[in-house]
Amino acid sequence: MVFRVAIDGPAASGKGTIARGVAEGFGFAHLESGLVYRAAARRLLDLLSPGDDLNDERLMATLAVRAARAVVMEDLNGPGLRGEEIADVTSRISVLGEVRDVLRGLQRSFADAPPGGVSGVVIDGRDIATVVMPDADVKIYVDADVCVRAGRRAVEEGRELGEVLAEIEARDVRDSGRRVAPLRCAEGAIVLDTSHLTIEESIASALEVIRTARAGR
Ligand code: C5P
Repeated sequence: MVFRVAIDGPAASGKGTIARGVAEGFGFAHLESGLVYRAAARRLLDLLSPGDDLNDERLMATLAVRAARAVVMEDLNGPGLRGEEIADVTSRISVLGEVRDVLRGLQRSFADAPPGGVSGVVIDGRDIATVVMPDADVKIYVDADVCVRAGRRAVEEGRELGEVLAEIEARDVRDSGRRVAPLRCAEGAIVLDTSHLTIEESIASALEVIRTARAGR
């Protein structure tokens, strides 16, 4: 049986870095589900015609579902997926149930049959422990103070702190407040607050939690 680790948390909480560390540490396959949603947003932007209005909800919903259906795993390695600009469009289309239905299929396929015959899989995102893999062997909820998170992103992207903070706060509100699959700490999840932890300390804590769970399985 493939060992499954679900890691959720808000933007720039460190969940992606921790998930990569876990994948490296145990030789697990890793899926960054944010990239699946970002790939759909990328495809949506490519579908837009001059004059289309990003605030036209009906048009966006139609195009977003078409974009989500077109996403293939190879898209995740493509350019132009990182950064707060595409993240904003991404979180707008992530509120749509039909978009989530389509993209959930891709994530579950990865969880059921991870590439390379590995012994485990780790997926990070917003609704992994609550919706995508509710039966995960380990559930971790990574959190950090919003100012710390914005500071990390501002340094990564070489941008002004106030601007990044406003964007992240808007994303937090949308991701936690949406009706479908909102960001939540799942029942049974272990909370890891990385506000005052280094990357190494954060990864070490997660590795310890998983080691303990594997030993008891
Ligand atoms: O994790 P990342 O910041 O790359 O995610 C970008 C956006 O994709 C999030 O703000 C959220 O709106 C959406 N997302 C989601 N569910 C996931 C992963 C990401 O709704 N499992």
